[in-house]
Amino acid sequence: MIYTGNNRNLTIEPYEPCPCHLDKKFKFCCYQKAKKDTSAPMAKGFSLGRVNHLIREFYAATDFRTCFAFENNQCSGPIKNAHSLQNNRILNVICENGHLYYFKPEVVDSGPTSVIKKIGKNDASTFFGFCDFHDTELFKPIELFDYTGDIQQKFLFAFRALAVEMHKKLRQLENVKRMFAQRPRIMLDPQFVYMYRVAMSDVNDHQIEYELFKQGFQNGDYTGVRTIHRELQYGVKFAACSSFTVRYDINGKVMNDTFSTKNDRMPSIFLNIYPTPQGTTNILISYLNIDSEVYQNYFNSLDALDDQKLTKYLNYLVIENTENVFFTPSYIESLSENERKSFERSYNSSMNVLERASLLAEGNYYKFDLFNLAP
Ligand SMILES: [Zn+2]
Ligand SMILES: [Zn+2]
Repeated sequence: MIYTGNNRNLTIEPYEPCPCHLDKKFKFCCYQKAKKDTSAPMAKGFSLGRVNHLIREFYAATDFRTCFAFENNQCSGPIKNAHSLQNNRILNVICENGHLYYFKPEVVDSGPTSVIKKIGKNDASTFFGFCDFHDTELFKPIELFDYTGDIQQKFLFAFRALAVEMHKKLRQLENVKRMFAQRPRIMLDPQFVYMYRVAMSDVNDHQIEYELFKQGFQNGDYTGVRTIHRELQYGVKFAACSSFTVRYDINGKVMNDTFSTKNDRMPSIFLNIYPTPQGTTNILISYLNIDSEVYQNYFNSLDALDDQKLTKYLNYLVIENTENVFFTPSYIESLSENERKSFERSYNSSMNVLERASLLAEGNYYKFDLFNLAP
């Protein structure tokens, strides 16, 4: 059962499904437990190192294995740690000595943030989202062949971006539920109820998109996805695969009121950017046609931008919205101190309005260019 009330309703209603058991009403399930819980706040008085360790451990416990392929009766082999960015075709191109950089979430004195860290290629961009058979079989058209603009390839790139995000959203919801189980009283805390509401609607929104991909796939009809493809005649030093809701169009007009009090579905776009072994770069940006009303004009205006303007815009869009992005070590290491700071802080400013304001005041907001890289 899906909660259809207001996202900004910051209390769990008595007759609403309980977060722990959606088939029970809150009032008759965890409400009393929540009222009686007097446990201390989590991690009170712990060192930062210990807090980071605990958060990581807690989140690690939410990991789960599933196969997002559409014909699960054909699943076989273990659910492996599938690469959302292809290991052979993409990560191989951007790694150096088997390593890449990525943004690693951490808690520091000032609160949660992300720092740029090294990661081994085999651990980069992986998630437990496909069984062994489907990871190979389903993605053959993009795994074995160069990008040709084929409609099925566009569909598969967009779908993989959805799958990696959906796995993450399911984990985030599970994370909130686990916090509720450990400290029932936070079910009465508006801040945590808000987290729960957001996690629930994210999962519901992604499920709707998933069903559309599934229908398309099962009917052999790949026309439900519109994709803009742009090929750059040089290879970039990063790769990204992600889906997210875009709040503003390129003129700053709100397309999706992500802070709205209404419970509207937040439609995703699907983004893949990667350099090819041939030394070019593919940019693929997609949306589902049911979201034409929201995204059609936005995509038309993206399509009309020349390479320089498009990449300038994507420089911002990628860092602002994508966690699943990996960088060539020499690119990160070649950044000046100032560029590197701008890089990290601009990434973090997507979660921190004050940080953004101070970067803007310093004139140091997005003072780097992902697409214009020294070799
Ligand atoms: Zn309950
Ligand atoms: Zn499978």
